[in-house]
Amino acid sequence: MIELCNIASDRIAELDVINKTTISSAVSDLSNPQRTRIIVTDRNTRVLYDSWEDESLDAKFLLYPEIVKSLDGNNVFHWTYSNGIMLSHSAVPITSYETQIGCVYMTEHDTEQGAVIYSLQKNILMISITLGLVVIIFSVVFSGVQTRRLRKIMSSMRIVRDGDYTHKLELPGRDELNLLSNEFNDLIARLQISESKRNRFVSDASHELKTPLASIKLLSDSILQNEMDTETIKEFVGDIGAEAERLNRMSEKLLALSRIDSNPSVDAEIINVIPTIERVIRMLTPAAQKNNITVKTEYLQDPTILILEDDLYQVIFNLVENGIKYNKSDSSLSISLTTENNNAVIKISDMGVGIPPDALAHIFERFYRVDKARSRSTGGSGLGLSIVRNIVKRNNGEIHVESVLDRGTTVSVSFPIFEIGDENQ
Ligand code: ADP
Repeated sequence: MIELCNIASDRIAELDVINKTTISSAVSDLSNPQRTRIIVTDRNTRVLYDSWEDESLDAKFLLYPEIVKSLDGNNVFHWTYSNGIMLSHSAVPITSYETQIGCVYMTEHDTEQGAVIYSLQKNILMISITLGLVVIIFSVVFSGVQTRRLRKIMSSMRIVRDGDYTHKLELPGRDELNLLSNEFNDLIARLQISESKRNRFVSDASHELKTPLASIKLLSDSILQNEMDTETIKEFVGDIGAEAERLNRMSEKLLALSRIDSNPSVDAEIINVIPTIERVIRMLTPAAQKNNITVKTEYLQDPTILILEDDLYQVIFNLVENGIKYNKSDSSLSISLTTENNNAVIKISDMGVGIPPDALAHIFERFYRVDKARSRSTGGSGLGLSIVRNIVKRNNGEIHVESVLDRGTTVSVSFPIFEIGDENQ
C-alpha cells in the first residue's frame, strides 16, 4: 500500500495546479474506491482531497498521527485488526522541488487478509488449548509417578528404621531421586558395617570377660570343695586377685575405648612431650625392674604438640608397657624423642619376642593378640594398641611398627609440632 501512496505522491507533486479536481484525476485510477480511502492534505494538515465524498473531510485539519509523522518527512505504515477486518494505514510526504507541500494518507479495509488473520488466531487458540491440556495431563501423570517413587523411599526408610540393614532401595531412573536413593543405599551399607562391628565388639568383649570370670569361679569352687592347707588356699586366693585385677584393667580399657569412640571431637592443649614420657617411666619402673629391664632415654629436643595430656599419656603408657611385657628379661628398652619434618617423633624399641610379619597387620584390631597364652599371662587384653591407634588418628598423628622376630620391635608415633602462636594462624 505504501507503493500506491508513493505513486500518488509523485503524481500530485508533478501537478501544475493542486486542487480537488486535479488531485482526483491524478489518483482516481489507483485503487478500489470501496475498500480504499485516499486523503491528501497540505503541509498544514488541511484536507485538500478526500476520495470518500459521502463522508468527506474536505477543508478540515486532520491531526492523525500518521499524517503528522509523514509531514515530518517519514513514510508511515501500520495496520490493525478487529472483527475479521484488517485495516491498514499509510502516509507519505509530497515533495515538490525539495519542499514538502503536503501528504498522501491512505486507509484500506481488507476482509480477505482479515479472514486469514482470523483463521490464524483460531488455530493459535486451538494449539494453545491442546498444549495446555497436554501439559496438565503430563503433570498429573508425572506427579503420580514421582509420588509413587517418594513413597518407595519412605517405605525403605521405615524398613531400615525397624532394623533391617540388609534392605536395598531399587529406584530406576536418572534424576535427583535416583541420586538420593544411591546416597541412601550408601548410608545403609555404612550402618550395616558399623552394626556388625558393634556386634563383633560386644561378643568379643563378653568372651574376653568370660575367661577371667570362669577362672575365678573355678578357683573359688576348688577352695570350697577341697580340703586345702593354708598355703594352697593363699595361692588360690592370690590367683583370684590377679584375675580380678585383669578384669579391672580390661574394663578400664573398654571404658577408654568407648570414651574415644563416643567423643570424636578432640579437646586439646599445647604440651611438651618429655614430662609425659617421664611420668610413664616413673609409673612403669617397678614392672621394668621386675624383669630386670633397663629403660634408656634419649631426648634431642622437647617439642610442643597439640593434644590432651591424658591422651598422650595413654599412648606412651600402652607402648612402653608392651615394650616391657613383650621384652626379654635382663635386656633394655629405649625411648627416644626427635623431630622430623615438623613432627615430634617418639620411638620405643624393645629387644623382645617381636611380632610375626603376618600378624603386623592385625595388632591394632580390638582384642587381637599374637600369642594368646603369653599375652594372657602378662595380663594383656588386646585393646592397648587399638586405643593407641584411635588416639593417634584423632590427633592427626601417625604410628608405624617395625619388628623382627626374636630380635625386637620398634614403634614410632609422630604428632605435628604445634608452636605457641600457631593457633592464631
Ligand atoms: P595387649 O594388651 O595384649 O598387649 P595390645 O593391643 O597392646 O594388647 O597388643 C596387641 C598384640 O600385639 C599383643 O597381644 C602382642 O601379641 C602384640 N604386641 C604389641 N606390642 C608388642 C611388642 N612390643 N612386642 C611384641 N609383640 C607386641
